[in-house]
Amino acid sequence: MTDQQNQQPAPRHGDDRGARSFETLAIHAGQEADPLTGAVVPPIYQVSTYKQDGVGGLRGGYEYSRSANPTRTALEENLAALEGGRRGLAFASGLAAEDCLLRTLLVPGDHVVIPDDAYGGTFRLFSKVAERWGVEWSVADTSDPAAVRAELRPRTKVIWVETPSNPLLGITDIAAVADVARSAGARLVVDNTFASPYLQQPLALGADVVVHSTTKYMGGHSDVVGGALVVSDPDLGDELAFHQNAMGAVAGPFDSWLVLRGIKTLAVRMDRHSANATRVAELLVAHPKVTEVYYPGLPGHAGHEVAAKQMRAFGGMVSFRVAGGEQAAVDVCDRARLFTLGESLGGVESLIEHPGRMTHASTAGSALEVPADLVRLSVGIEAVDDLLADLSQALA
Ligand SMILES: *Cc1c(COP(=O)(O)O)cnc(C)c1O
Repeated sequence: MTDQQNQQPAPRHGDDRGARSFETLAIHAGQEADPLTGAVVPPIYQVSTYKQDGVGGLRGGYEYSRSANPTRTALEENLAALEGGRRGLAFASGLAAEDCLLRTLLVPGDHVVIPDDAYGGTFRLFSKVAERWGVEWSVADTSDPAAVRAELRPRTKVIWVETPSNPLLGITDIAAVADVARSAGARLVVDNTFASPYLQQPLALGADVVVHSTTKYMGGHSDVVGGALVVSDPDLGDELAFHQNAMGAVAGPFDSWLVLRGIKTLAVRMDRHSANATRVAELLVAHPKVTEVYYPGLPGHAGHEVAAKQMRAFGGMVSFRVAGGEQAAVDVCDRARLFTLGESLGGVESLIEHPGRMTHASTAGSALEVPADLVRLSVGIEAVDDLLADLSQALA
Protein backbone atom coordinates (compact mmCIF):
# COMPACT_ATOMS: atom_id res chain seq x y z
CA MET A 1 0.00 0.00 0.00
CA THR A 2 1.41 3.36 -0.99
CA ASP A 3 1.06 6.53 1.03
CA GLN A 4 -1.37 7.84 -1.55
CA GLN A 5 -3.73 4.94 -0.92
CA ASN A 6 -4.00 5.91 2.70
CA GLN A 7 -4.60 9.52 1.90
CA GLN A 8 -8.18 10.80 1.87
CA PRO A 9 -9.01 12.83 -1.25
CA ALA A 10 -9.58 16.54 -0.66
CA PRO A 11 -12.92 17.18 1.07
CA ARG A 12 -15.65 18.67 -1.12
CA HIS A 13 -17.78 20.16 1.64
CA GLY A 14 -17.32 23.53 3.29
CA ASP A 15 -16.02 23.88 6.83
CA ASP A 16 -19.35 25.09 8.17
CA ARG A 17 -21.25 21.80 8.03
CA GLY A 18 -21.47 21.62 11.82
CA ALA A 19 -23.69 24.68 11.69
CA ARG A 20 -26.19 23.09 9.30
CA SER A 21 -29.27 21.07 10.11
CA PHE A 22 -29.76 17.43 9.19
CA GLU A 23 -32.09 18.00 6.24
CA THR A 24 -29.63 20.46 4.69
CA LEU A 25 -26.62 18.22 5.24
CA ALA A 26 -28.49 15.30 3.70
CA ILE A 27 -28.80 17.24 0.45
CA HIS A 28 -25.47 19.09 0.43
CA ALA A 29 -22.75 17.47 2.55
CA GLY A 30 -19.97 16.08 0.34
CA GLN A 31 -21.77 17.37 -2.74
CA GLU A 32 -20.41 20.71 -3.88
CA ALA A 33 -21.35 21.43 -7.50
CA ASP A 34 -18.98 19.63 -9.89
CA PRO A 35 -15.94 21.93 -10.33
CA LEU A 36 -15.66 21.24 -14.07
CA THR A 37 -19.28 21.55 -15.22
CA GLY A 38 -21.30 22.90 -12.30
CA ALA A 39 -23.46 19.75 -12.26
CA VAL A 40 -25.49 20.05 -9.04
CA VAL A 41 -25.47 16.31 -8.43
CA PRO A 42 -22.16 14.41 -8.08
CA PRO A 43 -21.50 12.65 -11.39
CA ILE A 44 -21.20 8.86 -11.54
CA TYR A 45 -17.44 8.50 -11.99
CA GLN A 46 -17.67 5.10 -13.70
CA VAL A 47 -13.91 4.66 -13.90
CA SER A 48 -11.27 2.33 -12.51
CA THR A 49 -8.06 4.36 -12.87
CA TYR A 50 -6.87 7.98 -13.12
CA LYS A 51 -4.23 9.70 -15.26
CA GLN A 52 -1.25 10.79 -13.19
CA ASP A 53 0.62 14.01 -13.91
CA GLY A 54 4.02 12.35 -13.68
CA VAL A 55 4.64 9.33 -11.45
CA GLY A 56 2.77 9.86 -8.19
CA GLY A 57 1.21 13.11 -9.45
CA LEU A 58 -2.36 12.36 -8.40
CA ARG A 59 -5.17 14.80 -9.13
CA GLY A 60 -7.14 15.23 -5.91
CA GLY A 61 -5.75 12.03 -4.39
CA TYR A 62 -7.37 9.63 -6.88
CA GLU A 63 -5.28 6.71 -8.07
CA TYR A 64 -7.45 3.59 -8.39
CA SER A 65 -11.17 3.21 -7.66
CA ARG A 66 -10.85 0.47 -5.06
CA SER A 67 -8.79 2.91 -2.99
CA ALA A 68 -11.04 5.92 -3.70
CA ASN A 69 -13.57 7.09 -6.27
CA PRO A 70 -15.09 10.61 -6.35
CA THR A 71 -18.72 9.42 -6.28
CA ARG A 72 -17.93 7.18 -3.32
CA THR A 73 -16.03 10.02 -1.62
CA ALA A 74 -19.15 12.19 -1.91
CA LEU A 75 -21.21 9.47 -0.23
CA GLU A 76 -18.59 8.81 2.45
CA GLU A 77 -18.40 12.49 3.39
CA ASN A 78 -22.17 12.71 3.41
CA LEU A 79 -22.44 9.68 5.72
CA ALA A 80 -19.87 11.12 8.13
CA ALA A 81 -21.77 14.43 8.26
CA LEU A 82 -25.15 12.79 8.85
CA GLU A 83 -23.90 10.62 11.71
CA GLY A 84 -21.86 13.45 13.23
CA GLY A 85 -18.67 11.43 12.71
CA ARG A 86 -15.22 12.20 11.33
CA ARG A 87 -14.95 9.39 8.78
CA GLY A 88 -17.49 7.49 6.68
CA LEU A 89 -16.76 4.41 4.58
CA ALA A 90 -19.06 2.90 1.96
CA PHE A 91 -19.16 -0.82 1.17
CA ALA A 92 -20.74 -3.21 -1.29
CA SER A 93 -23.29 -4.37 1.33
CA GLY A 94 -24.08 -4.05 5.01
CA LEU A 95 -22.45 -7.41 5.66
CA ALA A 96 -19.31 -6.37 3.76
CA ALA A 97 -19.11 -3.35 6.10
CA GLU A 98 -19.55 -5.61 9.14
CA ASP A 99 -16.92 -8.06 7.89
CA CYS A 100 -14.40 -5.24 7.36
CA LEU A 101 -15.15 -3.94 10.85
CA LEU A 102 -14.71 -7.35 12.51
CA ARG A 103 -11.42 -8.02 10.79
CA THR A 104 -10.14 -4.56 11.69
CA LEU A 105 -11.06 -4.72 15.38
CA LEU A 106 -10.57 -8.39 16.25
CA VAL A 107 -7.89 -11.07 16.23
CA PRO A 108 -8.29 -14.77 17.13
CA GLY A 109 -9.09 -15.24 20.81
CA ASP A 110 -10.93 -11.94 21.13
CA HIS A 111 -14.52 -11.95 22.36
CA VAL A 112 -17.64 -10.09 21.23
CA VAL A 113 -20.95 -9.60 23.05
CA ILE A 114 -23.80 -9.83 20.54
CA PRO A 115 -27.48 -9.02 21.11
CA ASP A 116 -30.18 -11.65 21.66
CA ASP A 117 -32.16 -10.10 18.82
CA ALA A 118 -30.35 -9.12 15.65
CA TYR A 119 -30.39 -9.26 11.88
CA GLY A 120 -30.02 -12.94 10.94
CA GLY A 121 -27.08 -12.27 8.62
CA THR A 122 -25.16 -10.53 11.41
CA PHE A 123 -25.67 -13.55 13.64
CA ARG A 124 -24.55 -15.84 10.82
CA LEU A 125 -21.41 -13.74 10.29
CA PHE A 126 -20.42 -14.27 13.94
CA SER A 127 -21.58 -17.86 14.38
CA LYS A 128 -20.62 -19.35 11.00
CA VAL A 129 -17.74 -17.17 9.76
CA ALA A 130 -15.92 -15.24 12.52
CA GLU A 131 -16.06 -18.23 14.87
CA ARG A 132 -14.10 -20.35 12.39
CA TRP A 133 -11.35 -17.73 12.57
CA GLY A 134 -11.19 -17.98 16.35
CA VAL A 135 -13.40 -15.06 17.38
CA GLU A 136 -15.51 -15.91 20.42
CA TRP A 137 -18.98 -14.55 21.00
CA SER A 138 -21.71 -14.71 23.59
CA VAL A 139 -25.25 -13.42 23.68
CA ALA A 140 -26.77 -10.80 25.99
CA ASP A 141 -30.10 -9.00 26.28
CA THR A 142 -28.59 -5.62 25.45
CA SER A 143 -31.71 -3.79 26.64
CA ASP A 144 -30.33 -4.55 30.13
CA PRO A 145 -26.88 -2.94 30.63
CA ALA A 146 -26.24 -5.22 33.63
CA ALA A 147 -26.78 -8.26 31.41
CA VAL A 148 -24.18 -6.89 29.00
CA ARG A 149 -21.74 -6.31 31.86
CA ALA A 150 -22.26 -9.91 33.01
CA GLU A 151 -21.06 -11.23 29.64
CA LEU A 152 -17.76 -9.31 29.68
CA ARG A 153 -14.57 -11.38 29.52
CA PRO A 154 -10.93 -10.31 29.74
CA ARG A 155 -10.71 -10.33 25.94
CA THR A 156 -14.04 -8.63 25.17
CA LYS A 157 -13.13 -6.12 22.48
CA VAL A 158 -16.53 -5.33 21.00
CA ILE A 159 -20.08 -4.90 22.26
CA TRP A 160 -22.51 -5.11 19.35
CA VAL A 161 -25.93 -3.49 19.59
CA GLU A 162 -28.88 -3.17 17.23
CA THR A 163 -31.51 -0.64 18.30
CA PRO A 164 -34.31 -0.89 17.36
CA SER A 165 -33.50 -4.56 16.85
CA ASN A 166 -34.51 -6.81 14.00
CA PRO A 167 -37.19 -8.24 14.11
CA LEU A 168 -38.45 -7.73 17.68
CA LEU A 169 -37.92 -3.94 17.85
CA GLY A 170 -36.07 -4.18 21.16
CA ILE A 171 -34.50 -0.95 22.41
CA THR A 172 -31.03 -0.61 23.92
CA ASP A 173 -29.99 2.44 25.93
CA ILE A 174 -26.95 3.42 23.85
CA ALA A 175 -25.48 5.83 26.42
CA ALA A 176 -25.78 3.25 29.22
CA VAL A 177 -24.12 0.46 27.21
CA ALA A 178 -21.45 2.93 26.05
CA ASP A 179 -20.54 3.35 29.74
CA VAL A 180 -20.23 -0.44 30.10
CA ALA A 181 -18.03 -0.59 27.00
CA ARG A 182 -15.81 2.26 28.12
CA SER A 183 -15.25 0.75 31.57
CA ALA A 184 -14.32 -2.58 29.94
CA GLY A 185 -11.98 -1.08 27.34
CA ALA A 186 -14.24 -2.49 24.61
CA ARG A 187 -15.69 -0.70 21.61
CA LEU A 188 -19.40 -0.15 21.22
CA VAL A 189 -20.75 -0.84 17.73
CA VAL A 190 -24.32 0.23 16.95
CA ASP A 191 -26.17 -1.07 13.90
CA ASN A 192 -28.27 2.03 13.12
CA THR A 193 -30.03 0.54 10.08
CA PHE A 194 -33.57 0.55 11.53
CA ALA A 195 -33.41 4.12 12.85
CA SER A 196 -31.24 5.91 10.27
CA PRO A 197 -29.20 8.94 11.39
CA TYR A 198 -32.26 11.16 11.04
CA LEU A 199 -33.93 9.41 13.97
CA GLN A 200 -30.89 8.47 16.06
CA GLN A 201 -27.19 9.39 16.22
CA PRO A 202 -25.27 6.76 18.20
CA LEU A 203 -21.85 8.47 18.06
CA ALA A 204 -23.22 11.44 20.02
CA LEU A 205 -24.46 8.95 22.64
CA GLY A 206 -21.01 7.41 23.09
CA ALA A 207 -20.84 4.66 20.46
CA ASP A 208 -17.50 4.11 18.72
CA VAL A 209 -18.77 2.78 15.39
CA VAL A 210 -22.05 3.09 13.51
CA VAL A 211 -22.95 0.34 11.03
CA HIS A 212 -25.53 0.66 8.25
CA SER A 213 -27.09 -1.49 5.66
CA THR A 214 -27.64 1.43 3.25
CA THR A 215 -29.78 -1.04 1.30
CA LYS A 216 -32.59 -0.09 3.67
CA TYR A 217 -33.70 3.43 4.70
CA MET A 218 -30.63 5.28 3.43
CA GLY A 219 -31.11 4.05 -0.15
CA GLY A 220 -34.82 3.95 0.54
CA HIS A 221 -36.08 2.74 -2.85
CA SER A 222 -35.28 -1.00 -2.88
CA ASP A 223 -32.94 -0.52 -5.83
CA VAL A 224 -29.44 -0.90 -4.37
CA VAL A 225 -27.45 -3.08 -1.93
CA GLY A 226 -24.86 -1.24 0.14
CA GLY A 227 -23.31 -0.78 3.56
CA ALA A 228 -21.46 1.81 5.61
CA LEU A 229 -19.33 2.43 8.68
CA VAL A 230 -18.98 5.79 10.42
CA VAL A 231 -16.55 6.59 13.25
CA SER A 232 -15.45 9.63 15.27
CA ASP A 233 -11.88 8.52 15.97
CA PRO A 234 -9.71 9.48 12.98
CA ASP A 235 -7.12 6.78 13.79
CA LEU A 236 -9.80 4.10 13.74
CA GLY A 237 -11.05 5.70 10.51
CA ASP A 238 -7.60 5.26 8.96
CA GLU A 239 -7.39 1.63 10.10
CA LEU A 240 -10.80 0.89 8.63
CA ALA A 241 -9.89 2.66 5.37
CA PHE A 242 -6.72 0.57 5.19
CA HIS A 243 -8.73 -2.64 5.57
CA GLN A 244 -11.47 -1.43 3.21
CA ASN A 245 -8.83 -0.99 0.50
CA ALA A 246 -6.85 -4.11 1.46
CA MET A 247 -9.94 -6.36 1.39
CA GLY A 248 -11.78 -4.55 -1.38
CA ALA A 249 -15.55 -4.87 -0.78
CA VAL A 250 -16.15 -1.23 -1.76
CA ALA A 251 -19.35 0.42 -2.97
CA GLY A 252 -19.26 0.96 -6.73
CA PRO A 253 -19.83 4.41 -8.26
CA PHE A 254 -23.39 3.81 -9.44
CA ASP A 255 -24.42 2.21 -6.16
CA SER A 256 -22.86 5.13 -4.26
CA TRP A 257 -24.81 7.54 -6.46
CA LEU A 258 -28.10 5.72 -5.80
CA VAL A 259 -27.57 5.84 -2.04
CA LEU A 260 -26.68 9.56 -2.23
CA ARG A 261 -29.86 10.21 -4.16
CA GLY A 262 -31.92 8.28 -1.64
CA ILE A 263 -30.41 10.16 1.30
CA LYS A 264 -31.60 13.52 -0.05
CA THR A 265 -35.18 12.62 0.96
CA LEU A 266 -34.32 10.60 4.08
CA ALA A 267 -35.78 13.12 6.53
CA VAL A 268 -39.18 13.46 4.84
CA ARG A 269 -39.38 9.72 4.25
CA MET A 270 -38.57 8.86 7.89
CA ASP A 271 -41.22 11.30 9.13
CA ARG A 272 -43.82 9.63 6.92
CA HIS A 273 -42.62 6.07 7.70
CA SER A 274 -42.91 6.86 11.40
CA ALA A 275 -46.37 8.44 11.10
CA ASN A 276 -47.71 5.54 9.01
CA ALA A 277 -46.17 2.90 11.30
CA THR A 278 -47.76 4.54 14.34
CA ARG A 279 -51.21 4.20 12.73
CA VAL A 280 -50.49 0.60 11.71
CA ALA A 281 -49.36 -0.28 15.25
CA GLU A 282 -52.53 1.25 16.68
CA LEU A 283 -54.70 -0.82 14.32
CA LEU A 284 -52.83 -4.01 15.26
CA VAL A 285 -53.05 -3.38 19.01
CA ALA A 286 -56.84 -3.17 18.72
CA HIS A 287 -57.16 -6.24 16.48
CA PRO A 288 -58.59 -9.45 18.04
CA LYS A 289 -56.39 -11.73 15.89
CA VAL A 290 -53.19 -10.03 17.03
CA THR A 291 -51.73 -11.25 20.34
CA GLU A 292 -48.74 -8.89 20.62
CA VAL A 293 -47.42 -5.81 18.82
CA TYR A 294 -43.77 -4.73 18.85
CA TYR A 295 -43.39 -1.02 18.10
CA PRO A 296 -41.25 1.27 20.28
CA GLY A 297 -43.71 4.12 19.76
CA LEU A 298 -46.37 2.29 21.77
CA PRO A 299 -46.47 3.52 25.39
CA GLY A 300 -46.69 -0.11 26.57
CA HIS A 301 -43.47 -1.15 24.77
CA ALA A 302 -40.71 -2.10 27.25
CA GLY A 303 -38.24 0.25 25.56
CA HIS A 304 -40.61 3.15 24.93
CA GLU A 305 -39.04 5.60 27.36
CA VAL A 306 -35.47 4.92 26.25
CA ALA A 307 -36.55 5.15 22.60
CA ALA A 308 -38.28 8.48 23.27
CA LYS A 309 -35.07 9.74 24.88
CA GLN A 310 -32.63 8.70 22.13
CA MET A 311 -34.80 8.76 18.96
CA ARG A 312 -36.52 11.65 17.17
CA ALA A 313 -39.43 9.37 16.16
CA PHE A 314 -39.98 5.61 16.24
CA GLY A 315 -39.38 4.53 12.65
CA GLY A 316 -41.24 2.43 10.13
CA MET A 317 -40.75 -1.15 11.37
CA VAL A 318 -43.57 -2.99 13.17
CA SER A 319 -43.71 -6.66 14.14
CA PHE A 320 -46.67 -8.58 15.56
CA ARG A 321 -47.76 -12.05 16.59
CA VAL A 322 -50.83 -13.69 15.17
CA ALA A 323 -53.33 -15.78 17.17
CA GLY A 324 -53.35 -19.33 15.80
CA GLY A 325 -49.60 -19.82 15.48
CA GLU A 326 -47.19 -20.23 12.61
CA GLN A 327 -49.68 -21.16 9.87
CA ALA A 328 -51.93 -18.22 10.76
CA ALA A 329 -48.92 -15.87 10.52
CA VAL A 330 -47.91 -17.33 7.15
CA ASP A 331 -51.52 -16.95 5.94
CA VAL A 332 -51.54 -13.24 6.84
CA CYS A 333 -48.36 -12.78 4.78
CA ASP A 334 -49.90 -14.66 1.84
CA ARG A 335 -53.17 -12.69 1.93
CA ALA A 336 -51.59 -9.23 1.99
CA ARG A 337 -51.86 -7.48 -1.39
CA LEU A 338 -50.59 -3.92 -1.07
CA PHE A 339 -47.93 -5.03 1.43
CA THR A 340 -45.58 -6.94 -0.85
CA LEU A 341 -44.38 -10.31 0.45
CA GLY A 342 -40.61 -10.04 0.47
CA GLU A 343 -37.41 -9.76 2.48
CA SER A 344 -35.61 -6.48 3.14
CA LEU A 345 -37.07 -3.23 4.46
CA GLY A 346 -36.78 0.52 4.44
CA GLY A 347 -38.06 1.24 0.93
CA VAL A 348 -40.91 3.57 0.01
CA GLU A 349 -43.15 0.55 -0.62
CA SER A 350 -44.60 -1.51 2.23
CA LEU A 351 -43.30 -5.05 2.72
CA ILE A 352 -44.51 -7.98 4.80
CA GLU A 353 -42.60 -11.11 5.74
CA HIS A 354 -42.42 -14.13 8.05
CA PRO A 355 -39.02 -13.79 9.84
CA GLY A 356 -38.92 -17.41 11.06
CA ARG A 357 -39.02 -18.80 7.52
CA MET A 358 -37.43 -15.87 5.70
CA THR A 359 -34.98 -13.23 7.03
CA HIS A 360 -34.22 -15.03 10.31
CA ALA A 361 -34.17 -18.67 9.23
CA SER A 362 -30.45 -18.72 10.11
CA THR A 363 -31.27 -18.15 13.81
CA ALA A 364 -33.32 -21.38 14.17
CA GLY A 365 -32.30 -23.35 17.25
CA SER A 366 -30.13 -20.51 18.63
CA ALA A 367 -30.63 -17.95 21.41
CA LEU A 368 -31.74 -15.58 18.64
CA GLU A 369 -34.56 -17.78 17.32
CA VAL A 370 -37.69 -15.74 16.58
CA PRO A 371 -41.30 -16.69 17.45
CA ALA A 372 -42.97 -18.84 14.76
CA ASP A 373 -46.17 -16.74 14.85
CA LEU A 374 -44.28 -13.49 14.14
CA VAL A 375 -44.96 -11.23 11.14
CA ARG A 376 -42.71 -8.26 10.32
CA LEU A 377 -43.83 -5.17 8.45
CA SER A 378 -41.74 -2.53 6.78
CA VAL A 379 -44.36 0.22 6.66
CA GLY A 380 -43.89 2.32 3.52
CA ILE A 381 -44.95 5.84 2.66
CA GLU A 382 -48.14 5.04 0.73
CA ALA A 383 -51.47 6.57 1.83
CA VAL A 384 -51.97 5.15 5.31
CA ASP A 385 -55.67 4.35 4.80
CA ASP A 386 -54.75 2.00 1.95
CA LEU A 387 -52.23 0.26 4.21
CA LEU A 388 -54.74 -0.11 7.06
CA ALA A 389 -57.35 -1.50 4.68
CA ASP A 390 -54.91 -4.10 3.33
CA LEU A 391 -53.89 -5.27 6.79
CA SER A 392 -57.54 -5.49 7.89
CA GLN A 393 -58.42 -7.73 4.96
CA ALA A 394 -55.27 -9.86 5.43
CA LEU A 395 -56.17 -10.43 9.08
CA ALA A 396 -59.90 -11.01 8.48
C1 LIG B 1 -30.13 -5.87 6.03
C2 LIG B 1 -29.43 -5.65 7.32
C3 LIG B 1 -28.06 -5.87 7.45
C4 LIG B 1 -27.22 -6.45 6.32
O1 LIG B 1 -27.12 -5.58 5.24
P1 LIG B 1 -26.98 -6.06 3.70
O2 LIG B 1 -26.96 -4.78 2.97
O3 LIG B 1 -28.17 -6.92 3.39
O4 LIG B 1 -25.70 -6.84 3.61
C5 LIG B 1 -27.46 -5.59 8.66
N1 LIG B 1 -28.17 -5.12 9.71
C6 LIG B 1 -29.50 -4.91 9.63
C7 LIG B 1 -30.23 -4.39 10.82
C8 LIG B 1 -30.17 -5.18 8.44
O5 LIG B 1 -31.50 -4.98 8.38
